[in-house]
Amino acid sequence: MSSIYTGPVFEMARSQFHSVADFLEIPEGQRDRLLYPKRAITISVPINMDNGEMAVFQGYRVQHHLTLGPTKGGTRFAPTVDIGEVSALAIWMSWKCALAGLPYGGAKGGVTVDVHTLSRRELESLSRRYMQEMIPFVGPHVDVMAPDMGTNEQVMAWFMDTYSMYQGRTVNEIVTGKPVSSGGTEGRREATGLGVAHLIFRSLERLQLAAADSTAIIQGFGNVGSFAAIELARQGVKIIGVSDHTSCLFDRRGLDVNAMVDHAARNGSLRGFSTELAFDPSQLLVQPCDILVPAAVERVIDAEIAAKLDCRILAEAANGPTTPEADEVLNQRRSEIFVIPDILCNSGGVIVSYFEWVQDLQQLFWHKTEVIERLKGLLDNAFMRVMERVEKDNIPHRTAAMAIGVDKVAKAKATRGLFP
Ligand code: NAD
Repeated sequence: MSSIYTGPVFEMARSQFHSVADFLEIPEGQRDRLLYPKRAITISVPINMDNGEMAVFQGYRVQHHLTLGPTKGGTRFAPTVDIGEVSALAIWMSWKCALAGLPYGGAKGGVTVDVHTLSRRELESLSRRYMQEMIPFVGPHVDVMAPDMGTNEQVMAWFMDTYSMYQGRTVNEIVTGKPVSSGGTEGRREATGLGVAHLIFRSLERLQLAAADSTAIIQGFGNVGSFAAIELARQGVKIIGVSDHTSCLFDRRGLDVNAMVDHAARNGSLRGFSTELAFDPSQLLVQPCDILVPAAVERVIDAEIAAKLDCRILAEAANGPTTPEADEVLNQRRSEIFVIPDILCNSGGVIVSYFEWVQDLQQLFWHKTEVIERLKGLLDNAFMRVMERVEKDNIPHRTAAMAIGVDKVAKAKATRGLFP
């Protein structure tokens, strides 16, 4: 099938899908229907800038499949956003939701923009206008948005408010990742990073390594990276390297996570935190450590870097950090490096988003302890199923995780018929 979906990130999602489809022996004739998105929406988003000029941004939303329920997925505001990247992220969301047992298909959206160049007023205009343009295509039982890179709780509150004003009533359940004061759930802010850390602790247990004797390096210090760092450090892991798009810091004796979190909260990034601890970002991922956590962008681990990795656990907190070529290297190094694949590793975010949606629909809110306990229960279940599949079929962790997700969607499509 010829398609509008192109680019390196989409090619990654396509190649991963085909290798799992080969493993599952899915016939060629059924593959396009499983892989290609149900819908892709492209919009122009005009806003008035602070300098009096009008600017038009390109926005997208891709809804991968409607077979298991509404679609669900984040909204990314970043300069790299294009239809190929957004569709790859939507496809990964589908396998992730199916693996976690959530009643969703995958979706993703975004705007091609560098948010760091926008004032708060411009960001609000962009957020509201993006949601305004999407109103005909989303809904609490159609497609539910959430935050991703470059968006946050405030952006979700603007999305919810814009949709609600159009409906003439408050519709909390239209987006997740909102502030608790606007229908959000306790625990969503930290859910993805906390989930990443929880799965790292489960992996350490399997490898019979002690958290207190372990070191970690984290690339990306936004929502996911910072909360993963906080939880790892809280349970005794020494954080020896951290980077964001402005700064890279390394200290084998251990970095002060709380001080970095405070600095990033005050300044918006790690820029200016320290000159003595500055490190070459191109060398960060290959430094010796027990736990390596890419928590920023896609495709940061290629075959060359994969060959040089010196970690015991690779916890893929970001979506798509490892290229298929790097996967081949990691498959050879299976006994050395324990991979927690992205669709498992960062699934804490969508799991608690699902809890938020359920609470909003019922208008019955849970205590934080209940949210976190339920989160850990679903993560443990997914982790155990992946490990069982790895052992049963003697396959790499990513193949096992994807096989569970793809198989579930394929079976649902086979029983429902051609429509969804
Ligand atoms: P964020 O915008 O809060 O933070 C992104 C971080 O990455 C920032 O610290 C930024 O400076 C850093 N960064 C960007 N480019 C970098 C580079 N080249 N090198 C080093 N650091 C760089 O985003 P987030 O929500 O934390 O998302 C991070 C990753 O996790 C993304 O892949 C996202 O898709 C994935 N994810 C997020 C969630 C969630 O709930 N937020 C859920 C699942 C997956």
